[in-house]
Amino acid sequence: MKNIKIRVGHGIDAHRFVKGRPLILGGIEIPFEKGLKGHSDADVVIHSIIDALLGAAALDDIGTHFPNTEPQYQNISSGILLKKTLSLIRKHSYHIGNIDVTIISQEPKVRPFIPQMRQNISSILGLPIEKISIKATTTEKMGFTGRKEGILSSATALIRK
Ligand SMILES: [Zn+2]
Repeated sequence: MKNIKIRVGHGIDAHRFVKGRPLILGGIEIPFEKGLKGHSDADVVIHSIIDALLGAAALDDIGTHFPNTEPQYQNISSGILLKKTLSLIRKHSYHIGNIDVTIISQEPKVRPFIPQMRQNISSILGLPIEKISIKATTTEKMGFTGRKEGILSSATALIRK
């Protein structure tokens, strides 16, 4: 019998709201008066997915592979970083089983944009949309997301070889 290895990984990321930047979540531009602060496009959703995938493969984290001190990553679309992460885990003979994300945001309401985000991430990763789950919740006005200071994203990924 073939020896199949299944591994799970978790990723978490948060970015602070700032004026004068577009809000990009899951590669989709969301209409809002503020965006997220960061070296790249600050796509907190994709960053959490990258860390979940790297974590599942025990390949360190996003900051190690894509340092925020490198000019080449300034304002970069995080979809490009996700694609590079996919190549990296493929190089280690892993395939993605499924990804599950929870976005924690008091404002804006991101739920209407979830189908587009799932579509975008599944096309970046070359996976059927059923393998990408994205959910959204609030913290009932508690904590930094509740005070609308920023957005948190948490992701779990299963990989196998
Ligand atoms: Zn980030």
